[in-house]
Amino acid sequence: MHEKQNLLSLTKDQLDVFFSHLGEKPYRTKQIMQWVYHKHVLDFGAMLNLSKTLRDKLENSACLDLPQITKQNHSLDGVIKWLLDLGNNNQIEMVYIPEKDRGTLCISSQVGCSLACTFCSTGAQGFNRNLTTAEIISQVLIANKHLNSKNKKISNVVFMGMGEPLLNESSVYNACNLFLDDLAFGLSRRKVTISTSGIVPALLRMAQTTPVSLAISLHAPDDDLRDVLVPINKKYPIKELLDACQNYIDSGQQKRHILIEYVMLDGVNDTSEHAKKLVKLIKGMSVKVNLIPFNPFEKTQYRVSKASTIENFQDILYRSGIRTMVRRTRGEDVDAACGQLAGKVIDKSNRAIKLNVRN
Ligand code: SAH
Ligand code: SF4
Repeated sequence: MHEKQNLLSLTKDQLDVFFSHLGEKPYRTKQIMQWVYHKHVLDFGAMLNLSKTLRDKLENSACLDLPQITKQNHSLDGVIKWLLDLGNNNQIEMVYIPEKDRGTLCISSQVGCSLACTFCSTGAQGFNRNLTTAEIISQVLIANKHLNSKNKKISNVVFMGMGEPLLNESSVYNACNLFLDDLAFGLSRRKVTISTSGIVPALLRMAQTTPVSLAISLHAPDDDLRDVLVPINKKYPIKELLDACQNYIDSGQQKRHILIEYVMLDGVNDTSEHAKKLVKLIKGMSVKVNLIPFNPFEKTQYRVSKASTIENFQDILYRSGIRTMVRRTRGEDVDAACGQLAGKVIDKSNRAIKLNVRN
């Protein structure tokens, strides 16, 4: 039997092609998208403005499959973490982080990651596989369904969960297309962010094709240190990366800026010297810096910088005219920090099961 096409993997244009192969008119695309994304109906049988013949055709050739939720943890500060099962022992996490004026969903793009950044628990687990577009956007569908019932909303989506989005380009770009499409999620391009450790050729492609926001995981102000923390730097060193960033900034039809992520590791990258070097590197660029207190995990060699050290670092950047914020640690009681999701999940000892699950 041929495999059914999961329609959640298709953009509007791809749905047009799908329906034309079925001998249907393009307006079917709009009807299906309204059912799925606006009315949250995933059962072809319930899509009453489609003819019975078409519903039967769809049952035979297509599906609208979501991953299963295997765990849902609520932290005391409102953060929710879900564990999703993608089959064959592949698990991913996503995290909802409510703030005063917005709700951010942090999503995954791969099971594991091949880039082995030394301070990242996903990197410690190796790479398993890329997510499909359907698996990426399902994260938002599933979270939305849960949050709607509680009158909460996802206003921002960030690729800061497991995996390197720019090593899964086609699925991630299709997902972004759906995030921005008014017929699907209808988010503005400022509210969808790809975070990358700096895959330069992909970054150059993304700048031209996918008009979403960009966050760069820099973490070090020189190549010697970045080679250690973010090993992909040996292939795409800082100068090439920042040139690609400038290209992104210059490519937008509207004014663009970039978020620079910098994880604060005690005694490793957090001194005044590091801060001054960082200023030299990025001064004059249209960037904002996000200092992320390191989130420790089992067997890590790193510790988080002291609060006073982070403050000093922020001060040096700030006084040089660089907008800098310190990310607040959230959801600590459920291990829900963005970018620090996977460790507890695929850990062979299956510690996730021991997490304190409420609900
Ligand atoms: N692979 C992409 C996106 C996922 S990681 C990237 O590297 O950008 C999302 C963010 O979380 C990155 O900035 C990453 O460096 C950061 N991160 C990873 N592990 C972390 C940890 N233990 N503590 C704090 N931030 C971490
Ligand atoms: Fe992969 Fe990002 Fe973790 Fe590096 S920080 S190992 S790129 S997920």
